[in-house]
Amino acid sequence: MIRRLKVREHSSGRAGITRLIVGGMHGREYEVSSKILDKIKPNPSEGRVIVVPNVNISGRRYVSTTNEDYIKSPAGRVYLSIFERYKPDVVVELHIFNSKSYKNLVSPDRIYKRGVPRLMPYRSDLPIEDQILHGGPPPFVKDRFKEHASYITLEIHEKYGKEAEKTLLFILNSVINSNSVKEIREKLKERYRESMEKAGRLLRDYLSRAD
Ligand SMILES: [Zn+2]
Repeated sequence: MIRRLKVREHSSGRAGITRLIVGGMHGREYEVSSKILDKIKPNPSEGRVIVVPNVNISGRRYVSTTNEDYIKSPAGRVYLSIFERYKPDVVVELHIFNSKSYKNLVSPDRIYKRGVPRLMPYRSDLPIEDQILHGGPPPFVKDRFKEHASYITLEIHEKYGKEAEKTLLFILNSVINSNSVKEIREKLKERYRESMEKAGRLLRDYLSRAD
């Protein structure tokens, strides 16, 4: 079944950065991501916020965003067209994980197996249903987003709890209400210093790797 592509544009009417928030990158993630992204009502003071709750409108099979073929998949082509059209300065990609996939997402081996660094929990002291994991850009856009916090890959549990929802809203609001990448990074660092510093180091190593 093909769904209609929903693209919500929230413009401040003033110059500033373009923030793109996308969900439903593949498989059935849209079932959870749409529910969350349909709830947010961005009201930026500068620039604009583009919200796309579901990229995978064709509902087609799962292709990982770490796979080179992702941008050739139906979902990947939709994503790329949104990307080219809005030329975002900041991107948030919202993914959904389950208890089984958690181990692979946070494994130090991820850089060898998938070519991207492991994801970091903002808070590792919580049960996994309450964690939000974060990382940087997937391989196909990594050359365009070299600044830490300019491309934020997020993962939330399919049966996410209250704490996870609170963390996610804090991250999204930090992106929506900041007017530069630096400001976003500072807000996140203020609350999640250790996790942000570790992720920053992983990102620098990843970006300096030759392909
Ligand atoms: Zn995903």
